[in-house]
Amino acid sequence: MPEPALTSATMPARPTDAAGATPAGAALGEEILRLKRERGAILLAHYYQDPSIQDLADFVGDSLELARAAQRAQAKVIVFCGVRFMAEVAKILNPAAEVLIPDLEAGCSLEESCPPEAYARWRAEHPGAFAATYINCSAAVKALSDVIVTSSSAERILRQVPADTAILFAPDRHLGAYLERKLGRTMVLWPGTCIVHEQFSEKALVELKTLHPGALVAAHPECPEAILRQADHVGSTTSILRYVQQSPAAEFLIATEPGIIHQMERLAPGKRFIPVPGGAGECGCNVCPHMRRNTLENLHACLRDGGPRRELAGALRVAARPPRERVVGMAAAPRPEAGLSGGGPEW
Ligand code: SF4
Repeated sequence: MPEPALTSATMPARPTDAAGATPAGAALGEEILRLKRERGAILLAHYYQDPSIQDLADFVGDSLELARAAQRAQAKVIVFCGVRFMAEVAKILNPAAEVLIPDLEAGCSLEESCPPEAYARWRAEHPGAFAATYINCSAAVKALSDVIVTSSSAERILRQVPADTAILFAPDRHLGAYLERKLGRTMVLWPGTCIVHEQFSEKALVELKTLHPGALVAAHPECPEAILRQADHVGSTTSILRYVQQSPAAEFLIATEPGIIHQMERLAPGKRFIPVPGGAGECGCNVCPHMRRNTLENLHACLRDGGPRRELAGALRVAARPPRERVVGMAAAPRPEAGLSGGGPEW
């Protein structure tokens, strides 16, 4: 059954409590809401955004949920508080909408690790292989791939690739290695990493486990294996959010970007969430510098000025626009006759 169109009437309720905001921040928040109404815009925010932005959003989610929300949005303007490749996906899925992003420089280390020209050469070196690509990449790389996966959909989709077909997985080698262990098969991995998830400190995590013996560990599969080995639950941000709500435990150690803790505290009140530190524990490097380029100030300017906009060249949009169900990772399987030949983009 098709999902209902996303309108203000069908959107999940958002928290309206601006407690903790400074008077200037609260006034800014009100002005952002006013401009949003005036432009007929919908505001989509990733779980890794600053809590002040999450609290103003019409919809907060992970990359898969945001892709679905962008596709269903009926607003003429989508303001995307996430990183650039996510705004690109929104434009691919909803080309009629104007897609604005507060800071066009909000990139992603995974996207940067995988330039389209180098990716095209890598593909050409493996003729006949099936190219599965994580959604954290440019539209140009998406257009060169056979299927696009998210951390929620990857295992389900890859399980359906025949055992005698080689799989190329890009750009996150830690997610790729995690999937190899889950699938019990090897893949050819692109050597990219997320600068945030790669930084989590195993030493700090072990120390935290000693200090909080009853706490459960939830980790994102972009983390290295040493962190995942310590985890009670490994999954996408949405699955981690569900896990902490459903678990009877009262304390959790969280090994993903700490922006998600804002929603955990809202949805699982009374439980305690402790962010696992990155690096030596003092660098703040578990916070994504790209995601946090979006601020209330540049969100306000973006709504006021109607830009920056995320545009895609027409040809690229056509090349990258796959069948609806594949874009958002809902596909049950790649099409064997077309997708496995390495022909066109079959998301
Ligand atoms: S958290 Fe990592 S994967 Fe996500 S946007 Fe930031 S750099 Fe990219």
